[in-house]
Amino acid sequence: MLRLFLLLLAFVFAPAATGPHAQGQPVTNMRLYMFDCATLKNRDPGTYSLARDQVQALDMSDPCFLVVHRQGTLLWETGLNDGVYNRTGGGGARHDIIGQSLKSQLAEIGYKPTDITYLAMSHHHGDHSGNANDYASATWIVQKAEREYMFGATKPPTLNNDEYIALKDSKTIVIEGEKDYDVFHDGTVILIATPGHTPGHQSMYLKLPKTGSLVLAGDLWHFPGERTFHTIPKVDMGKPSGVQTAASRAKIEALVKKTGSQLWIQHDIISNLNLKKSPLYYE
Ligand SMILES: [Zn+2]
Repeated sequence: MLRLFLLLLAFVFAPAATGPHAQGQPVTNMRLYMFDCATLKNRDPGTYSLARDQVQALDMSDPCFLVVHRQGTLLWETGLNDGVYNRTGGGGARHDIIGQSLKSQLAEIGYKPTDITYLAMSHHHGDHSGNANDYASATWIVQKAEREYMFGATKPPTLNNDEYIALKDSKTIVIEGEKDYDVFHDGTVILIATPGHTPGHQSMYLKLPKTGSLVLAGDLWHFPGERTFHTIPKVDMGKPSGVQTAASRAKIEALVKKTGSQLWIQHDIISNLNLKKSPLYYE
């Protein structure tokens, strides 16, 4: 009986994901890896209701993240599409730059797309969902309103969903009623409903054993100036989406205050310069 109990314990606590730890390096602490999934060049601060002197840099970072938890892995964002942007030093009308594919950056630390247990994105826009088709074997976690907009009744006819079309058939956890979702049921990785920028936009709260807690805020803010000067993107001003954005920002600010979290604005290229990039990681 005791042996059976120990065997069960060993099973429960065995790492579920493959990766470097499968080759003899057990992950005892949760890890967060950050990848460079593009640089978005020469953005217009006016789009976000900011003057030129209210932003330090016009380029935006476009990171992706991998959370490695004892019970599995979660990929947060998939960056700009490799095929469209060709990964050869430029692409698109705005000359956005992609250095290395997300797949190759994951391979560098020992993960294949099929090793990803969960996929979650802040929202469906192309700089976040570009390579989502590669991760359709993962369980996709999405707010109901976002999935409806991507594939369902509220999808605009002009919206091109080719770059994430495979998610339509993925095993999916649909979060209803704008609730937050505790991915591993232990309070360490929580998807926070923050609608506004898109109907089912979400942010991610992490509680890391050494780094402490942090919030990856998706596109709730793009330039840090939006947080400093409380500006709403022009397209949302005077609209329900603008009201939602303001409420979602207030929700995140309250969470940050309550938990003493760091807040990472994902597109803030200057702050992101100082963050550790894969193969280094936070734990
Ligand atoms: Zn974005």
